[in-house]
Parts: sequence; C-alpha cells; structure tokens
Amino acid sequence: MANIIVLGAGLGGTMMAFEMQEKLGANDHLTVIGQGPTYQFVPSNPWVAVRWRERKDIEVDLRKVMDKKKISFETIGATRVHPTSNEVELTDGRKLPYDYLVISTGPDLAFDEIPGFGPEHYTQSICQSEHAEKAAEAVDQLIKNPGPVIIGAVQGASCFGPAYEFALILDTELKKRKMRDRVPMTFVTSEPYIGHLGLDGVGDTKGLLESELRQRHIKWITNAKVKEVQQDKMLVEELSEDGAHKQDHELPFHFSMMLPAFRGVPAVLGVENLVNPRGFVMVNKFQQNMTFPNVFAIGVCVAIPPIGKTAVPVGVPKTGFMIESMVTATAQNIAEMMAGRPPSFVATWNAICLADFGDGGVAFFAQPQIPPRNMNWASKGKWVHYAKIGFEKYFLHKVQVGESMPFYEKFALEVMHIHKLKQEDPTHPEVQ
Ligand SMILES: Cc1cc2nc3c(=O)[nH]c(=O)nc-3n(C[C@H](O)[C@H](O)[C@H](O)COP(=O)(O)OP(=O)(O)OC[C@H]3O[C@@H](n4cnc5c(N)ncnc54)[C@H](O)[C@@H]3O)c2cc1C
Repeated sequence: MANIIVLGAGLGGTMMAFEMQEKLGANDHLTVIGQGPTYQFVPSNPWVAVRWRERKDIEVDLRKVMDKKKISFETIGATRVHPTSNEVELTDGRKLPYDYLVISTGPDLAFDEIPGFGPEHYTQSICQSEHAEKAAEAVDQLIKNPGPVIIGAVQGASCFGPAYEFALILDTELKKRKMRDRVPMTFVTSEPYIGHLGLDGVGDTKGLLESELRQRHIKWITNAKVKEVQQDKMLVEELSEDGAHKQDHELPFHFSMMLPAFRGVPAVLGVENLVNPRGFVMVNKFQQNMTFPNVFAIGVCVAIPPIGKTAVPVGVPKTGFMIESMVTATAQNIAEMMAGRPPSFVATWNAICLADFGDGGVAFFAQPQIPPRNMNWASKGKWVHYAKIGFEKYFLHKVQVGESMPFYEKFALEVMHIHKLKQEDPTHPEVQ
C-alpha cells in the first residue's frame, strides 16, 4: 500500500493527480493539497485583464472532480514540506505522511525585489486570476484616462511569452476602441533581444516578434533592469551586451503590467538538499530529487539552469506541454518504484506554445525546449488566436472531467510524432 501526495493543484498538479490515480492499486491512496478549491487556467489571464473573459470562465471547482476520482483533496494549503520525516505540514498544523511526494507548487512571485513593484504597489500582474481581475480595473482607468503604457518582464523573469501576449492583446483592444493613438506603448524586457523568450529564441521568434512590435508602433528596451517603480514613472537601467551601463530611462506611465521574477514558494524555500538557493526543487532526469528519492517535482517549481550568460539575468520558462511531459514521466517513475524497480522514464521537455495577440498570434514548437534542438519552428497567423481559444476550452474540459490525456490527444500527438517521454531505453516496453 502506497500513500502519495501531490502538493499544488495548478496545471501540473491536477494533471499529475489524474495520471497518477490511473496507476494506483485498490489499497494505494492519493491526496492532493491545494490552496483553495479552484483550478485556474493561468494562460487565459491576459484575456481576463482586458475583460474578454470573466474569472469564473477560467476556473474549475476541483472538489467534485477529486471526489469522483476518489482522490482526497485538502484545500487549506501547506506551510512546510519535511522530506526527512516524509511529511507535509498543513496550515492547520496537521502533518500528512507520504511514501511519495510530487511537488507542483508553481512560483512564488518576487515583487518585493524591486521597490514600488507589483499589484500591491504601482504595476499590474497577470500571473494569477486575482491579479488579472485587478489589472482589468486598471485597464478601465486607462480607457478613461489614456496615456503611456509599459509592458514587459523584469530582471530574473523566466516567463516572457505572456508579456508579449498581453502587450499585443491590449494593443488590439485599444484599436477596437479607436483610442490606440492616445496610448504610446513601450515593451521593457530583461531579454537580450526581442523574441529571446528565455530560450535563445525559437525558430525566428526574434524576427516575428520584432516585426509585430514595429508594425504596432510598440517601442522596446532590451537588457533592461527595473530599478524602481513610482506612482506614475518607472526607473529603468539599460545595459550593453557586455553588462556595462548603457543608459538610464525615466519612463512615465498611466498603466503598467510587468511580469516578476519567480522563486520557490515558502513551503519549500530553504529546505536543505531539496531546493536551490532560489527555492526551486532540484531534480535529476527522472524528475526525482537526488537526496530524497521519494520526492519528485514538476512544473514551474523545478530548478532549471539559465541558457547561457545574458547581460541581465533571464530564466528558462516552464511551459504547459513541457510540464505535461514531466507529469507523465513522474507518474510512470512512481509506478516503477512502487513495483520495486528503479525509475527509468525521462520527459522530453518539448515546448509547444500558442502566443495570442488578440487578432492573430505566433505558434512555436521547440523539441526539446532547451537548445540545441532537433526541431525549431515558429509561425504566425490568425489561426493561432482561434487555436488558443480551442485549447482553453479543451484543457478546461479535461480538468472538469478529470482526464489528463484522452485517447484522441494521444493519437493526435502520435500522428505529429510529438512525444512526452524520451526513448532512453529503446527496449523498454512502455516507452511512448
Ligand atoms: C500569465 C501566464 C500565462 C501563461 N501562458 C502559457 C501558455 O499560453 N502556454 C504555456 O505553455 N505556458 C504558459 N504559461 C506557463 C505555465 O504553463 C503556467 O505558469 C502553468 O500554470 C504552470 O503550471 P504549474 O503547475 O507549475 O504552476 P501553477 O499552475 O501556478 O500551479 C501551482 C499551484 O500550487 C499552489 N500552491 C502553491 N503553494 C502551495 C502550498 N503551500 N500549498 C498548496 N498549494 C500551493 C498554487 O496555489 C497553484 O494552484 C503561462 C504562465 C503565466 C504566468
């Protein structure tokens, strides 16, 4: 009999719970620990921030589905992981024991690292649905009182796609309202070049995104370090490629949405031998912690080193399909260990992403996500916008019915030769 805990009920955690449950025997037990009862489809937050979606449209109450799947569901959150005693401590003081733990806690948002930064101060965020709702109120104010807008991602950020998406979606919304001419826009980013995305680009994302920003009259500053945000002005230092000071900017704004740097959540931050100094969980190629082999991690909370040196620190994004591949590998590896075998499944970490611009978008496919790659492709078109809407509906449906990968998704990925698991051992019968 095995007792498994999945900590965090976001994109990775919910899929992990559904996939793990399929592998358990009658005497095994699965518990999911969430912070609140709802799942939020984070990729739709940019739409919430321009009121193209209500928050309720992109949230799912997980209680019913967990109940239906016979998964115990704690909704009060955890305060600490204790890997030396194999326990997770909850906010009410209870300690839940585990045989296997999967950490899927996503990011803690490091707004406090820059004075005046974040939704408690002067800039907006779209990282959580609550933030996106608040950003929508700030967009309402911008519409009443048009003026300069700054959008982007600060030093240490690893998630750049949503910043581009939101800049272009807001541009589309302002054009629809015939007021774009009263809103000068600047994209401020720590990336060394437009379209780097923390991945040293994918296909021609540099050319595609530069051209998109140029065509929409959005100016940009790269290699940017935000030093301070004041009520109506952002102080930005621009560095040269070699890291030397290039120029200081004092940018006025009526509205700003800047993505923060991420770090590990308080429940794991500082746990010795589990996390790195920034609080990200250290794992080997099997998604397994090296010191605590019964602890696995998936999603944004996983430690991945940056790609190469950049003038301003830039992290590597953990994207949806990449996270789903971590889920599949982890479920298989825990099943292997439960059967008395060592873990042997390795996730592909491929990235398939749809970046919506409101009236079009860019799709890219990086196989694997970290270069050098076997496949490196990006393409632009109106179809991306509709594909993203379709994907949102499809993913929310999967969460509502409690299914990670229906047979038709498996079939479609097979046809496209896109795999979640690497063929480390070609003789292994279960390699997909
Ligand atoms: C605005 C935005 C848009 C994005 N759009 C895309 C996209 O279009 N395509 C794409 O591929 N990727 C996208 N991503 C990247 C990535 O897919 C998402 O961030 C995804 O939600 C990450 O999944 P996760 O499971 O790691 O973390 P999350 O989905 O953030 O889930 C983490 C969960 O853990 C919970 N948690 C944290 N601490 C505790 C605790 N102590 N106890 C219990 N629960 C806890 C949190 O409440 C949360 O529910 C986007 C990211 C952002 C921020």
